[in-house]
Amino acid sequence: MQHDVISYFMHLVRIDSESLNERAVADILKKDLESIGATVEEDDCHKQTGGNAGNIYAYLPGNVDKSPILFCAHMDTVKPGKGIKPRIENGTIYSDGTTILGSDDKSGVAEIMIALKRIVDSGTDHAPVEILFTVSEEIGLLGAKGFDKSRLKSAFGFALDSHQVGELLIGAPSQNSYKAVVHGVEAHAGVEPEKGLNAIRIASEAIAAMPMGRIDFETTCNLGIINGGEATNIVPNKVCLYGEARSHNPAKLERVCKDIVHALESTVARYAEQGARLEMKCEKEYEAF
Ligand SMILES: [Zn+2]
Repeated sequence: MQHDVISYFMHLVRIDSESLNERAVADILKKDLESIGATVEEDDCHKQTGGNAGNIYAYLPGNVDKSPILFCAHMDTVKPGKGIKPRIENGTIYSDGTTILGSDDKSGVAEIMIALKRIVDSGTDHAPVEILFTVSEEIGLLGAKGFDKSRLKSAFGFALDSHQVGELLIGAPSQNSYKAVVHGVEAHAGVEPEKGLNAIRIASEAIAAMPMGRIDFETTCNLGIINGGEATNIVPNKVCLYGEARSHNPAKLERVCKDIVHALESTVARYAEQGARLEMKCEKEYEAF
C-alpha cells in the first residue's frame, strides 16, 4: 500500500463505494490492514442492511502495556459517487465536478490507515489499536447500528468524520425522523372534483403550521421530501412527507416532534368528516452524546 496520505486518499476515492456498495473498498482495506499486521474481521451486518459488505473490525496489537484506543471511519459515500476522478489543483483535491469527491469519509479512512502504517513501519511504541470501518453511514448509520459494540475493548475512541481541518467534536445531537402519510379522497378533477378531498392541499396546510428550520441554538428540524399525486386530472388521495428533527437537548427534541405531529393531526382532523386520515411514524435515529 501507499506510504503517503494523499496518494492513498486518491487511490481510495477512485474505488466506488456508494452506500450499500462498499464491497470493493472493504476488500482493499482488509488486505491493507492485514499487511500492516492487524487481525481483520468482517461482520454480517449487510444481512440486515441489504448491502454487499459488512463492517470491518481490525485489531493491531500494541507493544506497550496501555489501554487500547479505537479509531473509526465509514467506508461509504453519498451519490453521485461512481467513477470519481480526483485531481489536485493549487494544493487542494477536487473531483472533476460530475461526482462528489468522497472525502467524506475516505479522508478519515486514509488518515487512519497511513498513521497506522507509519507507526508500524517506524517501530514506534504504541498502545493496542482497534479500527472500525463501518458501512452505510450516509443512509442512517446502518453499519454502526448493526455492529456488535460489546466487541470493542477501548474505553474511548476517535471517529474521523468531521468537516473542518482541526475541528474536534465532543458531542452530537439526538435525531428523530418522521414519515407522515396524509390520506384524502380520490376523484376525477374535471368531472367530479367535489367528490374528492385533496391530500396535497391538506398536507400543505399542515406543513405551513409546522415548526421548520432552526428552532434554537441546539435544535433544528426539516421537512425534506414530499411524494404525492399521480396526474393533473386526479384529485390526489395520498401524500407522503419525510422529515427529521435534531437537538442536543432530549426534551427540546421531544417538544419539536410533538409540535410537528400536532400540526399534522390537528390539520387532518379538520377534514376527518370528509374522509381525511393520517398515518404517522416518528422514530429515534440516534441518541445525543
Ligand atoms: Zn461522513
